[in-house]
Amino acid sequence: MTTSTTREILADLVAFDTTSSRSNLPLIRYVRDYLAGFGIEAEIFADDAGDKANLWATIGPPGPGGFILSGHTDCVPVDGQAWTSPPFALTERDGRLYGRGSTDMKGFLASVLAAVPALVAGKLREPVHLAFSYDEEVGCTGVRAMIARLAGRGEKPAACLVGEPTDMRVVVGHKGGRGYDCLVTGSEAHSSLAPRAANAIEYAAELVVFIRRLAAELALGPADEEYDVVHSTISTGRIRGGTAVNIVPRTCALTFEFRNLAEVMPDAIFGRIAAYAEEELVPAMRRQAPEASIGFEMLYDYPAHGIDPAHPLVTRIKNAVGHNGHGKVAYGTEAGLFQRDFGVPTVVCGPGSIDVAHKPDESILPSQLDLCDAALRRLLLG
Ligand SMILES: [Zn+2]
Repeated sequence: MTTSTTREILADLVAFDTTSSRSNLPLIRYVRDYLAGFGIEAEIFADDAGDKANLWATIGPPGPGGFILSGHTDCVPVDGQAWTSPPFALTERDGRLYGRGSTDMKGFLASVLAAVPALVAGKLREPVHLAFSYDEEVGCTGVRAMIARLAGRGEKPAACLVGEPTDMRVVVGHKGGRGYDCLVTGSEAHSSLAPRAANAIEYAAELVVFIRRLAAELALGPADEEYDVVHSTISTGRIRGGTAVNIVPRTCALTFEFRNLAEVMPDAIFGRIAAYAEEELVPAMRRQAPEASIGFEMLYDYPAHGIDPAHPLVTRIKNAVGHNGHGKVAYGTEAGLFQRDFGVPTVVCGPGSIDVAHKPDESILPSQLDLCDAALRRLLLG
């Protein structure tokens, strides 16, 4: 098997349109076949519909422990974005490599795959596991089934590196995130009879104000100075209701989301909102409209991530990347799931900058790929 460079593999990966709404199977088959070329058999964990899959593969000595290299295969849509070059063709221009997913996060996947021949040929002290997921960009939903299956059969890896773009800086934490749809249902009436109806917009507004007060409370602490916004946050993102100025509206829909520090429990935050709706608003609405209700649907939920900067894994990754700093990031990753649901100490560190992710003309510097290539070799073969 001839070996491919990280850049060649990245070009192959970018050419698969793995927007989260589409199947990632062509990319997964490519990775499976690539690994088979080095005698590595990958396990494919397909979703219920059978059109998306996670991939898990182990290199090196069998046995317990091992080091997970984790990345997601999906990418965000390009719809409505103005791209200078075709998004699904890796294009070099002005010393950068352009393409959807180049930085988030097919660059890391390419670097991992390019390291495979060296890992196979080298003396690994521990197994190296590749964990490639789907549907990360829609709430880290794909990886969960794979983690559950692996945990269920007693796999217990020792460490995990999530290669999300951090400019190869060592990231030891991010906030958790959760979003909800909420539907307030009251009753309709001619506006001249307003007091006889339960005005869904007005009750939704009370809920929005409650959420805003909760946000002010969260701003009092706990706080973590390593984040730009040092405390947990909550905010309403969208609201829609009503049909005409002279109709008391029957329904009003809103969405809200929160980002919590690891020490703030999202269930407790949501519990306060649900209790306010159930105990204060719904009884008041039912005085005019017995059928009134307030319903919530969770849109996504991923746990916060945090590892003690003094943990040996953090030191090991710092040695591999060759600098001593660490930080925390605002965006979510699968790291919290590996930690919470798999019990595996996890660090986030990968090539490329989050600043260009999800945007038109997403790109990565070849030097970032070189740094990642070198860091993986030092980490696993050093
Ligand atoms: Zn990502």
